[in-house]
Amino acid sequence: MAKILISKESKYYVKDPSKDYHSKEGQIKAADMQKDHAVSNIGKDFSVFDSWFIDDYSRIKRGAQIVARKEIGLIISETGINKNSVAVDAGGGSGALSCFLAHICKEVTTYEIREDFFKTVEANKEMLGLKNLTVKNADVTKGIDEKNVDLITLDLPAPWEAIASAHQALKAGGFLINYSPTIPQVMDFVSNLPEDIIHLKTIEIIEREWEVDGRKVRPKTRQLGHTGFLTFCRKI
Ligand code: SAH
Repeated sequence: MAKILISKESKYYVKDPSKDYHSKEGQIKAADMQKDHAVSNIGKDFSVFDSWFIDDYSRIKRGAQIVARKEIGLIISETGINKNSVAVDAGGGSGALSCFLAHICKEVTTYEIREDFFKTVEANKEMLGLKNLTVKNADVTKGIDEKNVDLITLDLPAPWEAIASAHQALKAGGFLINYSPTIPQVMDFVSNLPEDIIHLKTIEIIEREWEVDGRKVRPKTRQLGHTGFLTFCRKI
């Protein structure tokens, strides 16, 4: 398991703590990283702890454009998914969404049409040790094998093409959530919903981070701009 070292100046992610680590604040011995506190060879102090899911997660490989954490947070809080939930996701992309869902849910399956992205998701799944995530190199518009699914998340160029597959797989009361960067995608998705999948709401989340440094307290100059729209639907 990776270790996190925190000094007054910086945070370090040590992937292999069985070897001595060379930081910009000196060298830390492998044996010292087995304790909760370490001192480097140039006398700098570090707190040491095992990496958490979120420390590992923030290092996942990125191929396709990923769903941001602000959106993942809303998917979890609007659906109440938990350790008993079964979820399906498509397209897998980098696995940013499916890996986070697997951290929360009982079982998650993600469909990714491209072999290179399929491999990226597999690698991220492996790195995070997520045994309950199944990655399929398949076209979600051709069908979803899983049945009685609690939640389906879509992040596809043409999400309306996956509605029929989702409809078959969802249980009554199950959520269908679409993430799209543009409004024409939202329009075509919603207008293609069958009668028994109801549109609950479409939301855009704008996150504005602030710099807090003494009395210099103000919005950060560089911000995450537009990401996408989340459309929440429910099968009845
Ligand atoms: N939500 C992902 C990013 C998805 S990007 C994340 O958080 O990491 C969109 C992905 O959908 C791309 O990787 C693309 O290859 C895949 N895709 C496009 N059409 C598809 C289809 N019909 N079935 C499965 N995957 C598809």
